[in-house]
Amino acid sequence: MQRLEHFIDGAFVAPVEDGWLDNIDPATGLCIGTLARGSAADVNAAVSAAKAAAERWASTDPARRASLLHAMADGIEADMDAFVSAESIDTGKPVSLATVVDIPRAIANLRYFADAAVTFCDRQEQYTTATASSVVYDRPVGVIGAISPWNLPLYLLTWKIAPALAMGNTVVAKPSELTPTTATMLADIAREAGLPDGALNIVHGLGAEAGAALVDHGDVAAITFTGGTTTGAHVNQACAGAFKKVALEMGGKNPVIIFADADIDAAIDLAAAAAFANQGQICLCGERLLIEASVFDHVVDGLVQRAKALQIGDPLEQDTRFGSLVSQAHRDKVEQAVGDAVAAGATVLCGGGRPDSLPARVANGAFYKPTVLTGLAPDARFNREEVFGPVVCAMPFTDEAEAITMANCTDYGLCASVCTGDSGRAARMAAAIDAGTVWINCWLVRDFRVPFGGMKHSGLGREGGEASLRFCTEQVTVCTATTSTVGASGAVPSEPTT
Ligand code: NAD
Repeated sequence: MQRLEHFIDGAFVAPVEDGWLDNIDPATGLCIGTLARGSAADVNAAVSAAKAAAERWASTDPARRASLLHAMADGIEADMDAFVSAESIDTGKPVSLATVVDIPRAIANLRYFADAAVTFCDRQEQYTTATASSVVYDRPVGVIGAISPWNLPLYLLTWKIAPALAMGNTVVAKPSELTPTTATMLADIAREAGLPDGALNIVHGLGAEAGAALVDHGDVAAITFTGGTTTGAHVNQACAGAFKKVALEMGGKNPVIIFADADIDAAIDLAAAAAFANQGQICLCGERLLIEASVFDHVVDGLVQRAKALQIGDPLEQDTRFGSLVSQAHRDKVEQAVGDAVAAGATVLCGGGRPDSLPARVANGAFYKPTVLTGLAPDARFNREEVFGPVVCAMPFTDEAEAITMANCTDYGLCASVCTGDSGRAARMAAAIDAGTVWINCWLVRDFRVPFGGMKHSGLGREGGEASLRFCTEQVTVCTATTSTVGASGAVPSEPTT
């Protein structure tokens, strides 16, 4: 049985209040170990360690910081199989997915931000006027709190800590209590790689306890949060009172929009991937499928075929393509959402329940079949609220204007996919849809350099590339006079300086 302690000031430590939580493998329903139930006392210790390490880490040469992040990436790479299987066991996702998405992407996050920060720190913004010369410095903000969810545990944790560390900040991270293992493994690797004590600290525990204490801590200068919109609202409020920098990446109710002029087979493949990847538990999943009426039946038939063909099974088997949801409680939520949708008039074309048979090892797991619904209005509850499970609702539309109205019919605005063979139409749709990312004939294509985030209730701020690096810095302008700037009459600039 594993026993996951906090990682504070370069050492694994038990929680001050000696509280522990069970870590459950959702595919089997079995308890695989315990994790520290962090309290404010643990957060205080972690923040103190991060604060004490901040000055030295900030003044460490960016190239040295980068080489340590690369060493951490090397460490994960060397232990790839262990990371893949730990991620699969914590989340219920197939190893086939963790092998190609979660763990490689975590490695790439560390490497990308290591290098990007060196380039970023190397450049110098300078402006001159007739009377003064201004230089803009990017200074680390100090201690950054990083709060991450369970759906892509190591991927999203590294997406936050890599830019923070690379830019010279120290970090206290609070991973999801449902998926703590790979964060602890990463801490071990950070120690082996030689990251200075206190630069990276991990506090486990519940959101309302350890998470809230981190957000509220007076010595934490910024919070980067990924999770649900309701939680994000709490985090935002707490940060607002303290004028803390905050970045919020939250939920989505994303549309996949298929026009009759698209490559229809490719569009059906895309819709199936968007609906069912990671058992529908990616913030970017397409839970709403808008289809031009003339091809509606064809697309829906194709989607149902693909849903039925997905290999559901033991996440640890290499040929499994569809695993367990993250917990029994989350499956209950998905079941409830489908039940409510049916009560509201939805037709279940496939799925709509638990698998009929499963391998004995995972017979008690939190599995739910890939599900396709039709028959709901665009503004039905199912089509407005995020379910975060393998359930998609297909709806017909007649023209571009109707597709746009339907696409924008939720409070969310994270992403959308538009499948069309007409580039003019693609441009019109992209300009009209309220979403931080609009993919044309693709889904989940992620370029590290582009800004990523949501509009409306999906997010505040952007991550990725320069947006992440900027979030992790305070800009300081040092303006030096090159001639007298004060006029004879008093403290008025003798000429405009901008
Ligand atoms: P969640 O909001 O329940 O938890 C996210 C994290 O916040 C966890 O670590 C949790 O312990 C912590 N937390 C909970 N309450 C807190 C509080 N009061 N103060 C501080 N921290 C608190 O979300 P989840 O169920 O873990 O993840 C699923 C959600 O995340 C979905 O809504 C999904 O769309 C969203 N998500 C968004 C993105 C994105 O990039 N936009 C990416 C992945 C997941």
